[in-house]
Amino acid sequence: MTILDGKKVSNDIKDEITEQVKKMKAKGEKVPHLAAVIVGNDGASLTYVGSKVRACERVGFESTMVRLSNTTSEIELLDKIEELNQNDDIDGFIIQLPLPPQINTQKVLMAVDPSKDVDGFHPENFGKMALDMSTFIPATPFGILELLDRYGVETKGKHTVVIGRSHIVGRPMSILMGRKGFPGNSTVTLTHSHTKNITQITSQADIIISALGVPNFLKAEMVKDDAVIIDVGITRVPDESSPKGYIITGDVDFENVSKKASYITPVPGGVGPMTIAMLLKNTLLAREQRM
Ligand code: NAP
Repeated sequence: MTILDGKKVSNDIKDEITEQVKKMKAKGEKVPHLAAVIVGNDGASLTYVGSKVRACERVGFESTMVRLSNTTSEIELLDKIEELNQNDDIDGFIIQLPLPPQINTQKVLMAVDPSKDVDGFHPENFGKMALDMSTFIPATPFGILELLDRYGVETKGKHTVVIGRSHIVGRPMSILMGRKGFPGNSTVTLTHSHTKNITQITSQADIIISALGVPNFLKAEMVKDDAVIIDVGITRVPDESSPKGYIITGDVDFENVSKKASYITPVPGGVGPMTIAMLLKNTLLAREQRM
């Protein structure tokens, strides 16, 4: 069994980006600039945005964090987005989700200039992805592809089962694994909460990508020998023995599933760090496209 070490691979990617940024600086070029908008005080969202800003600093990007109060109206947020769209200094920006209930998330994501949409959530970019056109691929699916690629995991002709159909992970992942090319050329089954007999489906899978957010959902008896297991789940489970009062748990019963798997991602240290690395990659791409 091989651990797909997202921490190591993401550090390699960050080192590669750092080198590219040094070259840009040496040529007197502007370095990539990422902005992150966060509305409200959600603890997990603040942690994610903080990690993204720190990652920018590490590779030599400029970064801007835009913090707005929990009572921000939709119009105020749309105005801020327009400002970022027009600001030539910003190459790409993200709106950290979830947004407070008074704000329509779809409306907000559609207001982002597609050329600065480094999360790849705008319908124009999602459509391009589905049509195999060059675009920003959402960071988490992009990170999974990169991990499979760097470990040389064969996907052609394999049966890939994706659990969860969110717009940011499961749905794009199912499209990407089924597209022509590598990683891709899989036969894909997309499952969700209405799927019947899910164990029958997962136990036939060569590759399982689990993105539902239910701790330890995927058990050893749901997995065939030598399957490749990608665990996207990140759930904070209360734990009094931990200094933070919680531990991060994935969707996969790692202890038992890892005994059967050929490759498996740990949580933490698997898909999570890859997501941040690929956001940086998309931001670099956005800068290059604006040159
Ligand atoms: P989400 O919006 O939370 O949706 C969950 C999906 O799982 C839905 O499609 C739902 O089906 C499906 N589902 C729920 N219970 C199920 C069941 N018993 N059997 C089969 N499918 C079931 O999804 P998300 O935003 O992609 O998040 C999923 C998990 O990934 C979360 O833990 C999240 O924190 C994590 N995540 C991690 C990263 C990372 O960087 N590692 C990035 C993003 C998300 P329905 O559509 O029918 O409701």
